[in-house]
Amino acid sequence: MSITGECFCGEVKYQINGKLRDARSCHCSRCRKAFSSQASAYALVEPSQFSWMSGKELLTSYVGQHGFGLQFCKVCGSTICGIYNGEVHGVTLGCVNGDPDIELGMHIYVGSKASWEKVPEGGAQYIEGRPD
Ligand SMILES: [Zn+2]
Ligand SMILES: [Zn+2]
Repeated sequence: MSITGECFCGEVKYQINGKLRDARSCHCSRCRKAFSSQASAYALVEPSQFSWMSGKELLTSYVGQHGFGLQFCKVCGSTICGIYNGEVHGVTLGCVNGDPDIELGMHIYVGSKASWEKVPEGGAQYIEGRPD
């Protein structure tokens, strides 16, 4: 069973022949901007198990510090995946289709959440990043 995902307009589609792991929600101010939301919802993938099915040419990238960035559909603006040094590193859970058999297991940077957010119950919560 593979996992598929697509953007809001449906032009960009991908497939993962494997499982998602380490699903997390980050409540920091940077993730709020990047995801236009109260927090990120993101899970890691094995880069070798990830492939684009359509619309790869419609992706635009924003790469920040340390080689980590995000890729967006330039037609509809969905945030689709995270990249690290040019390779797909993880996917945004909002663009995954159906049930990917994973739940948000941790909330990180809840210490910098927006004043208007109520952090959901369930899952570990960390004031900053996840301790090693
Ligand atoms: Zn799109
Ligand atoms: Zn963050």
